[in-house]
Amino acid sequence: MPERQPTLDIVTPFWNEAASAEGFARLLLELETEVSRRFGFATRKILIDDGSVDDSAARFAEALGGEWEIVRLSRNFGKEVAVLAGLDRTCGDMVLIMDADLQHSLEVSLKLIGELVENPDVDVVYARTNREGASWKRSQSAKLFYSLINSSQRFDIPENAGDFRVMRGTVARALTKLRDKRRFNKGLYAWAGFRHKAVTYTPGQRVSGTSKWSRLNLLAFSMEGFASFSVLPLRILSLSGLAVALAGGIYGLKVFFEVFFYGIAVPGYPSLLVAIVVLGGFNLALLGLIGEYVWVALSESKDRPVYIVRDIVSGAGEQKPDA
Ligand code: UDP
Ligand code: MG
Repeated sequence: MPERQPTLDIVTPFWNEAASAEGFARLLLELETEVSRRFGFATRKILIDDGSVDDSAARFAEALGGEWEIVRLSRNFGKEVAVLAGLDRTCGDMVLIMDADLQHSLEVSLKLIGELVENPDVDVVYARTNREGASWKRSQSAKLFYSLINSSQRFDIPENAGDFRVMRGTVARALTKLRDKRRFNKGLYAWAGFRHKAVTYTPGQRVSGTSKWSRLNLLAFSMEGFASFSVLPLRILSLSGLAVALAGGIYGLKVFFEVFFYGIAVPGYPSLLVAIVVLGGFNLALLGLIGEYVWVALSESKDRPVYIVRDIVSGAGEQKPDA
């Protein structure tokens, strides 16, 4: 029996990336050629149009060659969900996830694939950014986030690792079984397990436009990560609630003794005000946090699909000559 040619699926979500369509198609073409030359893999490209409002999809369709598919979602669902939509369409022996904005280079992609091919023991090779360019504040807050979220579970979410990774088909299939609607991919990759290996890289500059992550977006995303992957904040809050109540009790005792045994008139309102404000603020924060968890629980309990596909365009033509 002739040996079947192994296949690599490339999954790329895009949202309003018309400006990078041509460059990305060229990168994919080179990648396809190299992957076939070095590792003997056949490549399928699966792009997910995450509700673009510009002509991205048409531009990509025009620029792509070889075997490709563009899954157009019915609206913008967010990158995390778009990645799932792509994984759902994969069937290859290996799956590579990369961005369309040319921040993920040909060289690093090939390095990831090479590492996976050479290490039969490893199931996932992910690209880890070195945070050289990041501000101190940003990298410290990331550190804090990961140490907090990792302190209360059996698996570790690695720092500085994103969706840029290559995995075996078995891992991709396992990931598609995780149908969380409010998705936090880093957590899901870690939850799914398997053996991971990191390759450190420096992401390139975005070709055009800006990152879709604002500071506020990042904060909301971290809250979501916490609410779906960690009970630590709830534990800290209930414990500190207990501590505050205990301190209040002790203070109450002190006042009791002062008044009844020593006859000291305790001035009332400053301590009252402090207690009200501190406890009030604490309560509000706690309520908000519980609300966050309830919101995640509510979204997950609705029997809705994670995303909706508008249509799928595909092509299986010849490789286009260098455009
Ligand atoms: N993206 C997407 N849906 C979104 C936001 C982003 O499909 O709602 C795509 C985007 O087009 C790009 C990739 O996800 O291909 C990474 O997005 P971005 O460059 O904004 O993120 P960053 O590189 O800053 O992490
Ligand atoms: Mg980017």
